[in-house]
Amino acid sequence: MSDPADRLAARRGETSHLVEALDQRLAGIIESSAYSAGDDEHDPEGATVAFERAQVAALLEQSRAELRALDAASERLAAGTYGTCLRCGGPIGAERLDALPATTTCIRCADRR
Ligand SMILES: [Zn+2]
Repeated sequence: MSDPADRLAARRGETSHLVEALDQRLAGIIESSAYSAGDDEHDPEGATVAFERAQVAALLEQSRAELRALDAASERLAAGTYGTCLRCGGPIGAERLDALPATTTCIRCADRR
């Protein structure tokens, strides 16, 4: 198991790269759709663009939420509460933290949800 601070920093780096890439892709889609005159409902290509745009926007929102979760995890790490389940106060398993460094619940509480 690696150091949680390193793991959070690594995950944060990956996620902010992803946010940047998705941001650019979304901007590209918006820009290219600005040149096409057809409206989404009657232009099949427009519908595809709208679908892709919605997909990328959803991914972007997900990645931004992950960034916020990682920031919150860093704060918990600084406060000394990282790795403690926010629901039951029990310890979160090392393997779970390895896989999901930003998680706030232990596997038992997550299963119960
Ligand atoms: Zn728990």
